Amino acid sequence: MRRLFALIIAILFLVTAPAQANDLGVELEDISAEKFNVTIEKFYATLPKAKGEYKSRVRPILIEGAMNTETEVLIRALKNPVAYRELNYLFVAGTYKDYPVVVVRTEIGVANAAASTALAIRKFNPIAVINQGTAGGHDSALKIGDIVIGERSFDHTAFRSAYSAAGTGIDLTKQENLGTYAYDEASGTFQAYTEYFPDPTLLNIAFKVANAHEEFNAVSGVIGTGNTWLECVDYVNFLHETYGSSCEEMETNSAAAICQSVGVPFIGIRVLSDNVTNSREYIPETATICQDFVLLVVEDYIRDVLKK
Ligand code: SAH
Repeated sequence: MRRLFALIIAILFLVTAPAQANDLGVELEDISAEKFNVTIEKFYATLPKAKGEYKSRVRPILIEGAMNTETEVLIRALKNPVAYRELNYLFVAGTYKDYPVVVVRTEIGVANAAASTALAIRKFNPIAVINQGTAGGHDSALKIGDIVIGERSFDHTAFRSAYSAAGTGIDLTKQENLGTYAYDEASGTFQAYTEYFPDPTLLNIAFKVANAHEEFNAVSGVIGTGNTWLECVDYVNFLHETYGSSCEEMETNSAAAICQSVGVPFIGIRVLSDNVTNSREYIPETATICQDFVLLVVEDYIRDVLKK
């Protein structure tokens, strides 16, 4: 009798638990994304439009975010914001702590990140670029809301698989990372880089901010980029173990390659909105945590480096 009872409970749990988790996940994502987008789009539409080209005596800091939720805090922090559009990308220029800052909404994915970064470099001639936003965790020691300061980044989709004959299956663990291409000044050609490194000064400042502000759980880590959203935990674990990835997202490494090509100091900083290794939740609102942290990095960079 007892065993039967336990079995019925177990079956009930199996039937209801996944459905509940799924429903909740989908609902959270849809409601928040929609609500955020409508209000932010309205706010962006109120920004004064730029007349003519950007003119600044000093080179601005460029801060990048792919989505509305990843740029709103930054744009609201700007004094005298002015909106520019170039090939449908939105750039908002203003000042922060009396220093020129431009925020770009890069849009999602590696192509958009590269295109908008290149356009921004041409248009605004930034002194440094910070790519920031949300990411999915690859490290089970990290939780949603934690920040990864990118000590390096790589494209986890840029690989050559090992040969295997038809019908013998797929073994991704045999893949070889090929890297992505950036201009190398010494050879005057584009070369493949399997990883990109941030500017040491920006990295140091980010660590200092992390140490000084205990309200953020910010750690040094590796950012994996690609136009993928991985929910297959075995594959995520494979990337974490093979390449040391702390998290995945869709822009950092691409912007890093463009910045390296033209010699502009760069750093990627990401907050975990999800972490499939320990949670089924996706909380895009965590994007505000990253922007708050990045503004502190920008403040210290202006004070300790740019204004010195
Ligand atoms: N639901 C979102 C779609 C996000 S697409 C929306 O409201 O439109 C993924 C974006 O979030 C990318 O810009 C990427 O950088 C980031 N991201 C967050 N978590 C991710 C994950 N687990 N995998 C890949 N990208 C992720």
